[in-house]
Amino acid sequence: MILGGYMSEKYVDIYKKLDMDIEKHSELMSALFQLFSDVFLTQKNRPENIKYFDWLMSEIHGKRIEELMEFKDKNKPLVGTFCIFIPEEIVVASGGACYGLCGGAQFSIPDAERDLPRNICPLIKSAYGFKVQRTCPYTQISNFIYGETTCEAKKKTWEILNDLHPTHVMHIPHMKGKREKDLWREEIYEFKNHIEEIVGKELTFEELKKGVEIINKKREALQRLDYLRSTKPDIVPISGLDSLLVTQISFYDDPERFSDKVFELCDELEERIDKGISVCESDTPRIMVIGTPMAPPNWKLHQVVETTGGIVINEEACIGHRYFKDNIDLDGVESVEDIIERMLERYMKIDCACFTPNDERIDKIIKMYREKKADGIIYYTLSFCHTYNVESKKVIDRLKEEKIPVLKIESDYSAEDVGQIKTRVEAFLESIRFKKSFKAKR
Ligand code: SF4
Ligand code: SF4
Repeated sequence: MILGGYMSEKYVDIYKKLDMDIEKHSELMSALFQLFSDVFLTQKNRPENIKYFDWLMSEIHGKRIEELMEFKDKNKPLVGTFCIFIPEEIVVASGGACYGLCGGAQFSIPDAERDLPRNICPLIKSAYGFKVQRTCPYTQISNFIYGETTCEAKKKTWEILNDLHPTHVMHIPHMKGKREKDLWREEIYEFKNHIEEIVGKELTFEELKKGVEIINKKREALQRLDYLRSTKPDIVPISGLDSLLVTQISFYDDPERFSDKVFELCDELEERIDKGISVCESDTPRIMVIGTPMAPPNWKLHQVVETTGGIVINEEACIGHRYFKDNIDLDGVESVEDIIERMLERYMKIDCACFTPNDERIDKIIKMYREKKADGIIYYTLSFCHTYNVESKKVIDRLKEEKIPVLKIESDYSAEDVGQIKTRVEAFLESIRFKKSFKAKR
């Protein structure tokens, strides 16, 4: 695979049109591709069809941006987001594109810290820093950035970000009663109006239905991948790193093409399972990772686990199961209002730690742990993410009651704590191995 096509002249022309800092961007991409090669291309026994996702990653600031420029030329809405609470179906229904914004790199944080406090979550600082640096083409090309009120640091950052780039803020409720649902319904209609203003027309029932079908299919593809990677207790046909890569790319790629490629990958994974092809030994500790989302290029924890003798079989996170677990039920819908109502139901099932109480999340984690025959859980939280950090107390207490091995890791995007995390993960995996061998002997 050739990495680094982003410097070809046609892309540089696009970057100029998008008012990007080309020199700084080049520095970012060199670091990104080096990291990607080190982390992903050194893995052994990868499925053949993962090549498409490697390619897409190599073109993440190239071909994909060229495609989005075509949307822009046709005046189709381009919306960048940091949260899975965005009703992306509405953007897709309008013929536009919705994508995640870069927010997983240390590279942009020093520039963000000139405006933002050091002691807030790195995801917010990283994303804000990319806007300050003008190094993220997805941010630069967006009609607007979608912000939400899920946590304190985010909602105050949007006020500052709005001075640099138009930012649409949706008020995400923090409870799930009738009042909150009424509020969220209004927010969905307001978001729809904003998209309709850009395209200059009202969205029809058929368009909205189509938008939902496209995103439902994407979620189904990811559900199938999630099932296949963990269905057999002794065969894991794809690494956790590669599965995470696919899920991360789901936030950037064209949704229809992406779904087709994931289904192709899943067909291959089924064949690998039939043939007994696994990326690890059958007694490798199976780890579920739960907690805050891992935006690219945040691959740190997965790399540590999988180079220390474990395998990640699931992510209970927004770049993971929380994103694709629920579809929008289109059964019997007859009007735009019906679709919005179903959308409301689906989005209110998101069990982000911004909700209180959030016991449904804990019940779900335990159910998933048993279904996936996991051996242990790593509760991962980004530094200064108060919601997930505080919620970890209730989650971990319940896991201990259920006698589920659990390790909590709090980290940021720097490489400084890799050694320390590795030591803790090694000890955790060792204790799991000991328990497994003890059980096997009984
Ligand atoms: S963890 Fe919460 S705030 Fe973060 S992306 Fe998920 S739903 Fe949004
Ligand atoms: S990880 Fe936590 S603190 Fe960071 S943006 Fe998400 S909810 Fe907010």
